[in-house]
Amino acid sequence: MKTAVITGAAKGIGAAIAVAFAKSGYRVVINYNKSEERARALCQILNDTYPTEAVCIKADVSTPEGAKKLISESVTAFGDIDVLVNNAGIAQQKLFTDITDEDWQTMVNTNLSSVFYVSRAAVPFMVSKKSGSIVNISSIWGETGGSCEVHYSAAKAGVIGITKALSKELAPSGITVNCVCPGVIKTDMLSSFTEEDLRALTEETPVMRLGTPKDVADAVYYLATNSGFVTGQVLGVNGGMYV
Ligand code: NAP
Repeated sequence: MKTAVITGAAKGIGAAIAVAFAKSGYRVVINYNKSEERARALCQILNDTYPTEAVCIKADVSTPEGAKKLISESVTAFGDIDVLVNNAGIAQQKLFTDITDEDWQTMVNTNLSSVFYVSRAAVPFMVSKKSGSIVNISSIWGETGGSCEVHYSAAKAGVIGITKALSKELAPSGITVNCVCPGVIKTDMLSSFTEEDLRALTEETPVMRLGTPKDVADAVYYLATNSGFVTGQVLGVNGGMYV
């Protein structure tokens, strides 16, 4: 049985990714930081419903120590890592001049440095067996830039940069590195948006609906399990909002 480690998997897009891998018979590591109850509940559902073994591991992936803990506990639990999905992230809407040093640092550490920290800890386990795949979750705003989300957009653009550079470095070791850029997806991340905001965003989306976590999970699963020839790619899952 193969193993998939998913950061920030207690809810939202991460939880849908965990379901996609569990359904397909992967062992799944559900990483969480604050959402312990939701992580435990999801773990129970996966173990009861699908041909999988799931565990949850608490770790703050915005720190190098948290990232090391996640990977070492994953290897202790399952002995191996085949797929890493760097999904954990936070969002914040603020005018550029209102962004504090702390806002900037927290945003960059959580959305960008976490990808570096967790991948750096996991890659040696993939290199040693010359196979593996990493899928990073960026954002449409990392491609186009989002007004009042400069720190978020910068961090997510950095995730695209890591994806491209690392894909070249790891290709000779049989490891793929790809990236998904979701558009507007209905999760807790949109909780500060009003009904009117959501209607306006729906109207801006050519397919005339907002995305679901499963829309993103299906793309992640495809990239993680491709033949090995698809690497370094940035796949938009955005209902045509940016093409
Ligand atoms: P969400 O429901 O708010 O989930 C975010 C997840 O990230 C939570 O499970 C959270 O875990 C985890 N997380 C945050 N900080 C963490 C940390 N320091 N260590 C470990 N886990 C941490 O949001 P979502 O929409 O599913 O977002 C998932 C990813 O998709 C994010 O990278 C986000 O930027 C990206 N994205 C979302 C959208 C959208 O429209 N929803 C669009 C583009 C990109 P805890 O609750 O346990 O702390």
